[in-house]
Amino acid sequence: MKKIAFFCIPAHGHTNPMLPVAAELVKRGDKVRFYSFNEFEEKIKATGAEFINCDRFLPEITKEEEQALKNIKTTEMTIQDIRITLSMNDFLEDEFKTFKPDVVYTDSVCFWGKLNARKFDVPMVVSTSTFAFNRLSSKYMKYQKGELRDMIFGLPRISKELKTLEPYGYKVKSAMSLVQNDNKTDTNVYTSRGFQPYAESFSDLYNFVGPSVFSSAKPQKEKQRPLVYISLGTVINERPDFYNKCIEALKDLKLDVIISCGKALDKKLLGVLPENVKVYSYVDQLDVLSKADVFITHCGMNSVSESLYMATPMVLYPQTSEQYAVAKRTAEIGAGEQLTDDSAVGIKAAVERILGNSVYQKAAAKQGAEFRACGGVKVAADYIESAPHKSNGIDVLEELKKSTAKFQFCYLTIVAAIIVLFGIFIGWNFVWIIGVSAGVLSAPVVKALEGKMYKSIVKRKVK
Ligand code: UDP
Repeated sequence: MKKIAFFCIPAHGHTNPMLPVAAELVKRGDKVRFYSFNEFEEKIKATGAEFINCDRFLPEITKEEEQALKNIKTTEMTIQDIRITLSMNDFLEDEFKTFKPDVVYTDSVCFWGKLNARKFDVPMVVSTSTFAFNRLSSKYMKYQKGELRDMIFGLPRISKELKTLEPYGYKVKSAMSLVQNDNKTDTNVYTSRGFQPYAESFSDLYNFVGPSVFSSAKPQKEKQRPLVYISLGTVINERPDFYNKCIEALKDLKLDVIISCGKALDKKLLGVLPENVKVYSYVDQLDVLSKADVFITHCGMNSVSESLYMATPMVLYPQTSEQYAVAKRTAEIGAGEQLTDDSAVGIKAAVERILGNSVYQKAAAKQGAEFRACGGVKVAADYIESAPHKSNGIDVLEELKKSTAKFQFCYLTIVAAIIVLFGIFIGWNFVWIIGVSAGVLSAPVVKALEGKMYKSIVKRKVK
């Protein structure tokens, strides 16, 4: 029997995948203490884990801060994460000393879980509810202008806040080092190796367990006419404009439509519904997806995984950089198509294309089958119980860094030699042109070669 402390931020997308893992560990006789918030009490108690309510540590936030959090502003989220860590400091110090966990299982962006595991030297396994992100896989993200502005201008504020952690014994190099996955930390990722972008760049300490889906139900697609399901998830879902365009697009087609619009939206904003459209605040998504033929989705990791699990192809409508990464990968495996025109005409055309070509459905079913073949919750639980793990030492990212440095050294040496030869035999007047051109070209050349170097390292190092 192990004592295991679970930590997560107050977000459904991050908490949901940890729940079946908690239930599995409890079933095995482990003592699981889940540090979470009011909103999740019922769900956590249903797993059999001990629920520890941490609501009193959530800082009071202004309306603007709340709006920024809702819009997933990285700066505001990071600052809130740091402030919660500070306000929980004394409480968690007490908990670590009295509960004495054998293992900490913490969400990848839950600073208080990660920092306290390190501070009290407790083996830690990180729970990653999206793709694992490092400098290669994060190329899949597409930052919007606003997100980039927020990240650049938010850096000084974040650095200032990070300094407040030091007196409490938390050692943090940078916010990035807290958020990004690294090759030295035991990590459960809720997807398959096959679906993870740049999977080989993650060390053997990554345990790709497949999506954490509660249901073992199978897709059931037989029915009179096709079903289109629409949801923008549980966070940024107050989009009556978008739902109205979907209704306009689909109202005259011979199909049924289910929209899950979120609990905050006033359904009156969607007007009188056509006979083929039903709108709910919340649905049993897995059940709906098991029957759906197309899913118009915001590309949250859970929603896309569930859709693939239920062999449902998608119209991809990402809103954040992370969702862009999920959308890009889904389109890459052929299980969906990105919505480039979000007018009613564009939506109708995208839905018709997906319904009219079975390759999308086949690709979704293939990925779903791979997900079902993953170890799932049992493998995730095994990994936590047997932490810490020893790595085989193969680190493709580190190798790539070395190869890139070697290449850059050779490149500079050759450029220097050309400059000297040019100077000696032709003249020194214009050698600066060679220098400037080589400098300008160096970044794209390295970028172009990095892909080749990566493939060759993977071939050499990974069986
Ligand atoms: N969900 C649900 N019913 C709904 C809408 C969403 O059960 O009507 C669940 C969905 O199954 C998924 C989660 O909420 O597990 C949404 O997570 P995701 O990562 O897709 O998006 P987020 O809400 O975090 O943006």
